[in-house]
Parts: sequence; structure tokens; C-alpha cells
Amino acid sequence: MSRGTISNNPKAAVAGDASGGPGRLGTDSVRIRILNRPVNVLSMDQAVAAVRRAWEAEEACQVVTANAEMLYASLQDRELARILEDAELVTADGAGVLLAARMCGFSLPERVAGFDLMLACLQEAAREGVPVFFLGSSPEVLQQALLRMHECCPGLNIAGSHHGYFNDVEGEAIVAQIRARRPRLLFVALGAPRQEKWIYRHKDKLPPCVAIGVGGSLDVLAGKVRRAPRWMQRAGLEWFYRLLREPSRLHRMSAIPLFLLKVAGRRLFKNKE
Ligand code: UDP
Repeated sequence: MSRGTISNNPKAAVAGDASGGPGRLGTDSVRIRILNRPVNVLSMDQAVAAVRRAWEAEEACQVVTANAEMLYASLQDRELARILEDAELVTADGAGVLLAARMCGFSLPERVAGFDLMLACLQEAAREGVPVFFLGSSPEVLQQALLRMHECCPGLNIAGSHHGYFNDVEGEAIVAQIRARRPRLLFVALGAPRQEKWIYRHKDKLPPCVAIGVGGSLDVLAGKVRRAPRWMQRAGLEWFYRLLREPSRLHRMSAIPLFLLKVAGRRLFKNKE
């Protein structure tokens, strides 16, 4: 998979908490850095437009929808840090990232959450007949999600799909299957950061496509998991809703306040310098 540039060249981004240069594919997106991790400044419409331009150009791109948990984990996980650095697009998936950006003096236009980005890209892909491949979730969830996709995106060209419970040997066969189907859009729903690592480790063997990690989005589409009501999403409380429904996520979610504390601490330290 040759490298493409959905947005700005990460190397063009200024180090530290500063913004980078304009996107090579014409997005106005710049990259800010939060705890020295990159995040693109762009709206949902701009993200979809960037993805569309990449598939039109048959570019190979990795899109990461990053939340506070992922950015915090990347402080301890070198591979994840490298993936964020190398990704063509890193969107602000959660309210925690928006808040952290604000604490650093930046303003991100809005959340670009994995589920919303997936739906918007699917609708665009359906209009243009662009082939799409889905990898991840349980076989039952995947089947149900594919049915729902035909309802919400009539005419969608589903080039193929595979559930997400496979071993390394089966994984190689899945890569071969994806190559044979030649999708332009690949949604990987294995949960973060496994999906990001899977895309990154296989990118040289994948066909030129835009690969996006979408976590539990197929569970939501299949109706197995409910998203927070709109007002909670708008109020930045989706994480709270998720915690109420899945208390077992408490340990994972403890990364959100830790991440924000770290950002606040770094800002305080900088201001004192
Ligand atoms: N999953 C998978 N293979 C695995 C483990 C998980 O396909 O080996 C799927 C799981 O079925 C679910 C998704 O990955 O559909 C993870 O969803 P979760 O909400 O935990 O992801 P997050 O958005 O929190 O990263």
C-alpha cells in the first residue's frame, strides 16, 4: 500500500503545540499537537471530502478517529504513537479531545466521531458506487449491520466483509481477500487500538484504499449498542452515557480525566517557564 496524503503532511506540522501547514489534497486542515500527538483541525464535511478525494485519487490512507483514551494510551505505546504520527488523518473522536485542544488554546470545529464519519462516507460511497469492505465485529453483528447498511445507504457497493474473530493465519487470508476485492474504502471494527495496529501492520499488503478504524460502530449500526441521545452527544457527555450502559469500561475510561489532567499540567508547566 503506497503512502498517500489525505490531509497535511505530518512532517509539515510544527513541533510542540502548534499548527501545521495546509492539506496537500486541498483540505484546509492543519494539525495541532496535544501532548505532542497530532490531531487534524477539520469539520465532518471536510473529513468526508478529504476521504473522498483520497479514494478518487486511489490513494492508500489510514484514518484514525482518536479519542482521549487513545491519545493517552499512545503516551505509553510507541507503536500507537508512530501510527498517529504516520496516519494521513487523525480526527477528534471525543469531547475529551475537543476540551484538551481548547485547554491548549486551539479550537476544533466539531467532533468527527468514527460512527458519524463511517455513515457519512458510506452515503457518499453509495452515491458514487465506490466499493467498500468491512472487517470486524461478531458474525451476527456484521450480518445485521450489513442489512441496515442497505437500508440507510441504498445502492451501496459492498465489495466484501469478514467478521473480526480470526487468528494470524486466517488474518493473512483475509488480507488476500481484501486485495482480491479491491475496495476503495475499508472499515476496520476490531476495537481501538487493535484496529489501528492491524491497518498499520498490513498497509503494505492492502490495496490502495482509505482504511478507517471504527471501533464499535457496527454494533451501533446493528442495533446491539445504543448511542447516547443527541443532546448528550452535543453536550459532550457521550462518554458518560457509555459508562452508565457499560460500567465495565470504567477502567478504560479513567484515561479521560488522566489525559485532561496531564494536558492541564503540561500547560501550567509551560506557562511557568
Ligand atoms: N472485536 C472484534 N474482534 C476482536 C475483538 C473485538 O471484531 O477480537 C469487535 C467487537 O465485536 C466490537 C468491536 O470490535 O464490535 C469493539 O467495539 P468497542 O466498542 O469495544 O470499540 P471501541 O470503539 O471502544 O474501540
